[in-house]
Amino acid sequence: MNSERIEVHGTVQGVGFRPHVYRVASALGIRGDVRNVGGHVVITASGHPETLAAFRRDLRDRAPAHARIDDITVTPAEDFGLTDFFVRDSGFGVGPRTVVPDLATCEACLGELFDPDDRRYRYPFINCTDCGPRATIVESLPYDRSRTAMRGFPLCDLCSAEYHDPADRRFHAEPVACPDCGPRLRWDAVTGGEALHLATSMIARGGIVAIKGIGGYQLVCDARNDEAIARLRIVKHRPRKPLAVMVRDVSEARGMAVVDAAAARQLESPAAPIVVLPARDGALDVGLFLPYSPLHHLLLHDLARPLVVTSGNRSGEPIAITDERAEATLGPLVDGILAHDRPIVARYDDSVVRAGRMVRRARGFAPDSLPLPVPSPAPVLALGAQLKHTTTLAVGDRAVIGPHTGDLENVETFTAFERTAEALCRWQDVTPDYCAHDLHPRYLSTRHARRWPRERRIPVQHHHAHVAATAAEHGVRGPFIGVAYDGLGLGGDGTLWGGEILLATYRDYRRVGRFGRAPLPGGEVAVRRPGRMALGYLYGAEDFGEPSIPDCFDVDDQELIRRMIERRVNCPIASSAGRLFDAAAALLGLCDENSYEGEAAVLLEAAAHGHSGPALDWKLHRRDGMWVYDPIPTLRDLLGEPAGVAAARFHTTIAEVTVALVNEVAGTVRTVCLGGGVFQNRGLVDEVTRGLDGFQVLVGERVPVNDGGISYGQAAIAAALLAGGEH
Ligand code: ZN
Ligand code: ZN
Ligand code: FE
Repeated sequence: MNSERIEVHGTVQGVGFRPHVYRVASALGIRGDVRNVGGHVVITASGHPETLAAFRRDLRDRAPAHARIDDITVTPAEDFGLTDFFVRDSGFGVGPRTVVPDLATCEACLGELFDPDDRRYRYPFINCTDCGPRATIVESLPYDRSRTAMRGFPLCDLCSAEYHDPADRRFHAEPVACPDCGPRLRWDAVTGGEALHLATSMIARGGIVAIKGIGGYQLVCDARNDEAIARLRIVKHRPRKPLAVMVRDVSEARGMAVVDAAAARQLESPAAPIVVLPARDGALDVGLFLPYSPLHHLLLHDLARPLVVTSGNRSGEPIAITDERAEATLGPLVDGILAHDRPIVARYDDSVVRAGRMVRRARGFAPDSLPLPVPSPAPVLALGAQLKHTTTLAVGDRAVIGPHTGDLENVETFTAFERTAEALCRWQDVTPDYCAHDLHPRYLSTRHARRWPRERRIPVQHHHAHVAATAAEHGVRGPFIGVAYDGLGLGGDGTLWGGEILLATYRDYRRVGRFGRAPLPGGEVAVRRPGRMALGYLYGAEDFGEPSIPDCFDVDDQELIRRMIERRVNCPIASSAGRLFDAAAALLGLCDENSYEGEAAVLLEAAAHGHSGPALDWKLHRRDGMWVYDPIPTLRDLLGEPAGVAAARFHTTIAEVTVALVNEVAGTVRTVCLGGGVFQNRGLVDEVTRGLDGFQVLVGERVPVNDGGISYGQAAIAAALLAGGEH
């Protein structure tokens, strides 16, 4: 007989790991116990050496589907004198901790949900160790019911028996519940099944209903009712941005969009993100997702039609998670509220994935951690940027990326950001020693950073963070070429950047190439009005001695804007790729107003679909020791082509320019990291990758290339700076 202490690290809490240990131990006749300690699992085991070896093998080989074992350590121990195997309550300890992302309803629970003989028939909060809410209900760790939003729901006898039965699927399933002891739905004063019925009737009649979901309230209406959708768009202040549609299954999705095998897997994955897919009718892409909570399954079953399901917030505000806030902010806008009495502890918007790459990282993915290429010698809180905001906490060799909290533009979103950051630190039980932040002085995240003592602040340039995020995700070592194309970020020289070629390591970068500059007439206004941007290039582009664009373009206030540009009144200068896409879209008559960030670029990409052609004219110049792309010949050439062909040729041009810039600066460096929101453009990434034959071309996959990835990039850079040495 031998005895040993086994520690298992990784994603091992909230995924049915202790029950798994129990089952394996019982099957082999191992004596001992298992408990959650901090963020990992500690097992004591006594048995024959061979049995113990089999035990350790089965622990790994038969691990539950959602567990991820990073490391198993074994140390010899005294015999504990136990006669059986026990599952213990949690102990406390130190170490990296994991909070499991929320998991979509599993097949077994679905079977019970629609089985009239099951005691949880049509119960909207059914779950088990394989599925259900996790990150959205955790108050603190270790993960035990008493530290979740379920602590207010004492188990009934039947649920308690399941919870304590090692042979049961719900053995130690912390959110376990049933109609007798668990949360219930509410519609005004009506509760339970009748409340659900009132909500579905309202949706069937064309109403808009606010529904309390997993990570926040959602606004729901009939996806086939144009009037309801038009009303929802007004309510959301969202005139054109596509709305996500929830469909029953993959085959229903195939009726609306082109769904390949990879996309189908993504739709059906436990994270159940919104997947952006090419629409069947050839128009813009559509965002589709499958029901991921029992309540969604009931809604889709009862209504038997696709539903528009969008986050429950007014434009610019964070999603409502409390009933009071939903009543106050959404109540006046909707035809009814379907609430329930399980509190939402943490706000998690739906995640968005396009072509296998993360666009918005939230429910189902956050707060899972990613590796840091250089471990951080001290905990760092990376505060992100401004739009599509996220926060990242660097602890040791892991970066815990918090969920998307929206655009940091007002008190409400700022408060949401602070609460998310606070929760990340509380879960990890660390007090960060440093913060990493953007250079832009007016970002609310930067203002937050100013509360920190100066010597504990690590400023990080925006585009360095973009490309470092891509490099870090792929574990790049040594120098790399960063291609950062996005809207705007503050550069190291105090001007606005956004079309940048950087020769970089995690610790440092050198700007070796850029896009030609143009003024932004009216600053922020120019970001919303692509037509103004076109005038910016027309009247005020950086001079390379080229003939300018013919003055055949016509927008409101043209003369006024021309004078603004000539006199440099409220005209900040930017070398932005995103703004060049805006100008091109405006010149082609595709977009005169960005009703959401990147709309012009989305329309330009859509217009290019199905067209092709050689690159338009372009030139590189040498200026101030770097290579500069002069976009004026391109824009001049753009006019006089039909919009579709011109849009396709514009994309080809930008890809060719990128390849040329990289080849000019590469030297012996062979790794290229793409970053910035412009690279959400799938076609552009493909063309650049093809053109850079002989290079390793990387782009964000698990981390968004847009500003949602900035905090992770900041964390990677800060860790490398603190670690010192050559990184
Ligand atoms: Zn389940
Ligand atoms: Zn119960
Ligand atoms: Fe950016």
